[in-house]
Amino acid sequence: MKKGLLTVVSGFSGAGKGTLMKGLLARYDNYALSVSMTTRAMRPGETEGVEYFFVTKEEFEKSIEEGKLIEHAQYVGNYYGTPKDYVFEQLDAGKDVLLEIEIQGALQIKERFPQALLLFVTTKDAQTLVNRLKGRGTEDEETINKRLKRAAEESEGIEEYEYLIVNDDLDTCIEDMHDIIQKAKLKADRNIEFIEKIRKELKDR
Ligand code: 5GP
Repeated sequence: MKKGLLTVVSGFSGAGKGTLMKGLLARYDNYALSVSMTTRAMRPGETEGVEYFFVTKEEFEKSIEEGKLIEHAQYVGNYYGTPKDYVFEQLDAGKDVLLEIEIQGALQIKERFPQALLLFVTTKDAQTLVNRLKGRGTEDEETINKRLKRAAEESEGIEEYEYLIVNDDLDTCIEDMHDIIQKAKLKADRNIEFIEKIRKELKDR
């Protein structure tokens, strides 16, 4: 079976990555969403093992030491990381695995897995981002300001990503994202095994 594509989705906090991912998963069955580990506090409405595996700092550091994470980073005072086993299992099962992670983690993935696809989600302008973060009502003023400051820093790294997704109309974004991921799988440099096989078959006949 052909392996799935490892796809990283980053974007400013409040840009709507979570909603996009949910839409993609609801509409298509070829995707698997990785559930990260974090030390941040659970928000109202979140469930252990659904949005995140919520752990202590000690538990997180133990996972790093034991090599259980394929990437990890600190974001606004907390640790976040991607558990390794699930990602590999799902890729082997042919699923396109979505990692919704921030930029430091994305760059670690790009380094370790050069064939991974990196997508960056943004709002159409900064004001829309401010309005969404405030409207969400899940963070206090200080946290919102920290996240906006972080967004300004993250904007410096957008060129490291392969595609930019401007989240204006949700439906269009879901379709664009699906198209991008499926087309990315057809790129020659992501199909080296196939190319080598057919090359050999032609030479050997
Ligand atoms: P939030 O606290 O809003 O759920 O997430 C904060 C940031 O951490 C978001 O940009 C989110 O994409 C990122 N994030 C979530 N899980 C991971 C992870 O496993 N690794 C990394 N590097 N970032 C993550």
